[in-house]
Formats: sequence, structure tokens, C-alpha cells
Amino acid sequence: MSILSKPNRPWLFNVDRNPILHGILKKTFYEQFCAGENSIETKATIRELKDMGFRGVIMTYAKETVFDHKSQEQHGMGVSALESEQKGERLDSRVLHCASIEAWRDGTLKTVDMMEEDDYLAVKLTGAGVKVTEAFAAGELPPQQMLDALDEICERCKERKVRMLVDAESQHFQRGISRVTLELMRKYNRDGYASVYNTYQAYLKSTPSTLASHLSAAQQEGFTIGLKLVRGAYMASDERSLIHDTKEDTDNAYNSFAQGALKQSIGDFGANGSRPFPSVNLFLAGHNKESMVAAYELHQKRTASGLPTVPIRFAQLHGMSDEVSFSLLHMKEGDEIPEVYKCSTWGRMGECLAYLLRRAIENRDAVLRTDNEYRALKNEMFRRLTKPFSFPPPS
Ligand SMILES: Cc1cc2nc3c(=O)[nH]c(=O)nc-3n(C[C@H](O)[C@H](O)[C@H](O)COP(=O)(O)OP(=O)(O)OC[C@H]3O[C@@H](n4cnc5c(N)ncnc54)[C@H](O)[C@@H]3O)c2cc1C
Repeated sequence: MSILSKPNRPWLFNVDRNPILHGILKKTFYEQFCAGENSIETKATIRELKDMGFRGVIMTYAKETVFDHKSQEQHGMGVSALESEQKGERLDSRVLHCASIEAWRDGTLKTVDMMEEDDYLAVKLTGAGVKVTEAFAAGELPPQQMLDALDEICERCKERKVRMLVDAESQHFQRGISRVTLELMRKYNRDGYASVYNTYQAYLKSTPSTLASHLSAAQQEGFTIGLKLVRGAYMASDERSLIHDTKEDTDNAYNSFAQGALKQSIGDFGANGSRPFPSVNLFLAGHNKESMVAAYELHQKRTASGLPTVPIRFAQLHGMSDEVSFSLLHMKEGDEIPEVYKCSTWGRMGECLAYLLRRAIENRDAVLRTDNEYRALKNEMFRRLTKPFSFPPPS
């Protein structure tokens, strides 16, 4: 995957041009993790996921840029995306209009149009190309054309009652991404709920201060923070010293943000601090069953005792950790069903390579979890096979 995702591959290794390679990858890897290469395939996958009982889907358009801290290079947009990037540069010098931003805007609006009420659009802002990544790398807001595109996308989301999650990406770009997302939350989260969510990576040592400054803005200015929480997916390419030293530290950070939000008490905000807790909508994204279950149980406990808490939703990636997703769905109490989403990506194979590469790395790390799922399936098979022979429990 890492060889295939390098730009300018010869024909043999070009997934969009070599039909045999395309066919093999499509049936093995692509269909496991991605929704489709066009809107017909994507809509069919969305329907399939909803029929399984999920509250909705989170859909993202695959184009993105990854910054490798070790080589100091940007990569991962796929060959076809790179070509449009080069075309964009040529066009830019003549008419001062960036074709890459335009292509990203079109792809993203097309994604919104595939979605239904209460679904989520997830966006990777670096997919809009070099003009945008240059600004993010400097911690600045992107060009006006991109800000206009974001406004148009947010308006379209509101019209279609779809919400937007802005993905967290490589650290190299994250300061700029977080800055522009705060602006969007400020503008679009004023109706008592979050239309736009920022993603907070628990593995970063800097996340407590980023979150504190966003909570402060929300509390002072009266808007809702969309708090999408993840552990963080860029360990292979990001600067290691910025990330917690151990997995345990990352786990503790993740759980303390999740539980803190649910108890409406994070740092200086809420019960244990000196400042009121602002309006927060929580979205827990991840495959760690303990974190998910603990958060759901805390939410239920607080709701049942009449204690203040925040709305919570859960998401796992399409093709991964179905055991976690279905366990959450089965934790329903009465009519109250946990709101579980599956998150998928659509786009041409070349555009999806950076995403597929991350899934490959993550699944290598997830052998233990796969083992748990294998054991759960074996137990369930055994239970179903032996059920006809079991006796009712003594009354
Ligand atoms: C719906 C959804 C959306 C997502 N969106 C984003 C996004 O926008 N941005 C993003 O970056 N990620 C995103 N991710 C991926 C996420 O950040 C994690 O990589 C992935 O979910 C694995 O972590 P986990 O919480 O599932 O649990 P686990 O498998 O328990 O944890 C694995 C994670 O722990 C951390 N970790 C592992 N080893 C160490 C170590 N030695 N030291 C410190 N930390 C360590 C890493 O973050 C690693 O990914 C998303 C995931 C999902 C399910």
C-alpha cells in the first residue's frame, strides 16, 4: 500500500490505470473499507449500513494530503488527484482561481447531496491542495476561495439537515485546520446544537490547551462546541515528541476528555472549575470498546439520576470493529438506542490510497482486537448451535 500510494507511479503500479491491479484491490481491500467510486456505489453502501440498524453514516470524500515528518514531504493524494493539482497550478497562474479547491468543493458538495437527514459529512481540508496546505502549515486561514467553499458547504449541510465533522490531520497542518474549524463553529453552531464539529486528537500533548481555548471561546461567545474525540491516526508520520509517550497516557487522556464532557467538567470549566461549562455535543469516534462502553454507561447513569450531561453519539469505521458497533447497539434500554454511526469514505481508488494505507497500519496494530472479535464470533456460534439443546433456567 505504501508503494502504491507514492505519487507518479509507473503504469504497472498505478491503481487507476492498471485494470488488473484495480480489480484485485477493489475486491480485497477497497470494498472492505470504502463506500464506492461513484454516487451509485456509494448510495448502495449507505443503504446497506442503515439497514443494519445504524443511526446514520458519516461520509467523507477521500482526497487528502499527508505530511511525512521524517522525509518532510507531502504525499498521498493519488495519481489522478495529483494531475488535477498540477492542472490547478497552471490555471492558477492565469486566472487566479485554484482548480484544486474547486475540485475539492465539487467533490464535497456531491458528498452532501448523497446524504440524508441526520447523516454526517466528514471533511479533510487538506484535500483542497497546496494553496490550502501552505496556509495551514503556517497556522493561517486558507485562501478566500476556500473560505467561500466552506461557507457554501456548511449552508448546504444546514439545508439538508446534515452535520459536518472536520477531521484532524497531520500535525503539520493541524493548527490551521483547528483555527478555521473554530471560525466555522463560531458561525454555524448558534442554534443550541453543533452543526460543525472539530476533531480533538487525545494522543497529542497539546490537546488539553487547544480544547480549553475552544471551550473558553464557546462559553464567552455563546456557541456550541462540536467535540469529536479520537485517539489520533498519524503516529507513523507525525513528530513523535508531540504525542503522549505511552498508549496508556493516550487512553487516559481520551477517557478523561470523554468522561469530563459527560460530567460537564473539564479543567477550569464546570463543576470543579471557576468557569461555567459551555454547550457541548460529544461525538466519540474509535474502536476501543472499554472507552465506548464506559462513556455510554456514564451517560445513561447521569440521565437516569437527573444529573446534567451532554448529548453523545458514537462512530466506528466502515469495515472495522463491527463487534464494538453492534455491542453498543445492543446496549439499548427500552426505547433508548445508542446513536451509533458507521464512517466510510468514497472516491476513486487512487484518491483513497492514503486512507487505505492508514487502515492497513491501524489493522496491523489491531491484531489483538481482531482476536477478541474472533473469540466473540466463536462463542456466538457455539451459543446458537447449542441453544436447541439447552434447558430453561430453573425458576
Ligand atoms: C469514526 C472515526 C473517525 C476518525 N477520525 C479521525 C480523525 O479525524 N483524525 C485522526 O487523527 N484519527 C481519526 N480516527 C482514527 C483514530 O484516531 C484512531 O487512530 C483509531 O480509531 C484507533 O484508536 P482507537 O481509539 O480506536 O483505540 P485503540 O486501538 O485502543 O488505540 C490505538 C491508538 O492509540 C494511540 N497509541 C497507540 N500506541 C501508542 C503509544 N505507544 N503512545 C501513545 N499513543 C499510542 C494511537 O492514537 C493509536 O491510533 C477516526 C476513527 C474513527 C473510528
